[in-house]
Amino acid sequence: MSAADDDAMLTLDGVGVRYGHVTALHDVNLRIARGDFVALIGANGSGKTTLLQALHGLVAHSGVRTVAPDTAAQVMVFQRPFMLRLSAWNNLLLGLWLADVPAGERVPRATEALHRAGLFELRERQARALSGGQQQRLALARAWATRPAVLFLDEPTANLDPSAKREIESMLADFAAAGMTLVMSTHNLGQAKRLATRVVYLDRGAIRADMPTARFFGARLADHLDERADLFLKGELTWDME
Ligand code: ATP
Repeated sequence: MSAADDDAMLTLDGVGVRYGHVTALHDVNLRIARGDFVALIGANGSGKTTLLQALHGLVAHSGVRTVAPDTAAQVMVFQRPFMLRLSAWNNLLLGLWLADVPAGERVPRATEALHRAGLFELRERQARALSGGQQQRLALARAWATRPAVLFLDEPTANLDPSAKREIESMLADFAAAGMTLVMSTHNLGQAKRLATRVVYLDRGAIRADMPTARFFGARLADHLDERADLFLKGELTWDME
């Protein structure tokens, strides 16, 4: 590893993923650095979920995935959070137990996480009886409580109403401000613009743009994006910047 890569937590070199005849990712080179908040954007089927899975080590791939020694703790939060038929509190405690958090730390961490998520008063409720937005906040609290080095998020606000979206975004902004590294797929370009430090644009399984957020959304798009990326951005921006 060179000196320039000292802050690299995760690196993909020439990574490809195939599902039968479908090439979901093709020759992907990507470096996630400490403190990045990366938004993965692109049309349906462009490979965002597959890229998250490759980064997280969940799919077989060609090429090389390198994880820095102190960044093995990684958690993924999905679009539809998985909750067991238990109270919110017990879902959190179980998550901490599964993540090997020492017994003496579980109650204080769960308590703090529920406060952060604004769910402490609802801790005795069945997790599955919470609203979609509350369940997603609980999933984020559960992930945060394990103190991951990297948090992966697959469209964390899909299907949520605007107020629930804002609550999730506010939690994610807090995580980022506290120094957590985040990689998030999203169809909401406004959200990418509000939260991310860096945008990675995927098209048909390949990375077509990887640049700071301000530059990606800069006024003179044609200067730095290829034609398909430019068209994607113009098309999406017309309806997705709430
Ligand atoms: P969306 O925005 O719709 O969630 P995406 O950008 O996340 O899409 P992926 O889900 O990564 O895209 O899919 C990339 C390609 O791989 C698509 O052509 C998809 O049909 C294919 N694919 C994904 N998972 C599988 C699978 N388990 N088996 C076969 N093909 C798959």
